[in-house]
Amino acid sequence: MSIEDIKKEYRLKFDHHTHTIYSKVGPYFHGKGRIIDNARAAAKRGLDSLAITDHGPSDFYGLDLRKLPQMRRDIALTLASFPKLRIYLGVEADIVDTPNGLDVSPEDFGKFDFVNAGYHYVPKCHMIHNFLAFKLPWPKKLQEKLRRQNTARIVKALKSNDIKTLTHPGDKAFIDEHAVAKACEETGTLVEINARHKHPDAADLQIYKQYDVKFVINSDAHRPRNVGRFAESLALAMEAGIDPERIVNIQKR
Ligand SMILES: [Zn+2]
Ligand SMILES: [Zn+2]
Repeated sequence: MSIEDIKKEYRLKFDHHTHTIYSKVGPYFHGKGRIIDNARAAAKRGLDSLAITDHGPSDFYGLDLRKLPQMRRDIALTLASFPKLRIYLGVEADIVDTPNGLDVSPEDFGKFDFVNAGYHYVPKCHMIHNFLAFKLPWPKKLQEKLRRQNTARIVKALKSNDIKTLTHPGDKAFIDEHAVAKACEETGTLVEINARHKHPDAADLQIYKQYDVKFVINSDAHRPRNVGRFAESLALAMEAGIDPERIVNIQKR
């Protein structure tokens, strides 16, 4: 099915993974738009709801948790301009070596409407090793060691927390897709098909689809113009033989 035909036949109901200028380091804005800019794009694309999910606090350009009340105020003001849109305040927590496996502690969970989580290059979780191994042809034995460590980390985070969506599994670091899929199945965590990253790819998705998991397509937009992007991801899912019925935010027009 062509991208144009997909856009004609299907719609995205919601985009629950987008970034804003609250993901920043010093004067550098990692996300380029304000909350209202993402909302405007979401409304223009006819989404029912949008989530603002900036990076967890351990990320280089992670969220400052002290800004959460300000983000809530921004959302309230934005809703006055887009009354039909629902806007959630979430976070894309980092999977790291902490007691609960995330850089968002159990005490901070209640500050968000929901928590997504993903692996990123952040300190103290084999950042340099994973970065090099993923980008360069590293010895197989070392790759396998990292794969075991990364998989254990993700499975632990999934089992220790109520995570809504596992973001871009398999991107940035090697994992055992079977073990991760099984943990998503056991914990009812959505597997993300990410419009911005190369993983999961069609081969990865062919593994995930063998488990009793549901999928979600998210844009992971770092610019407002990418909010609501979904057609390429749906094409990828179809290529992997995933029934669109299993993707929670896809609807026939
Ligand atoms: Zn991410
Ligand atoms: Zn993201």
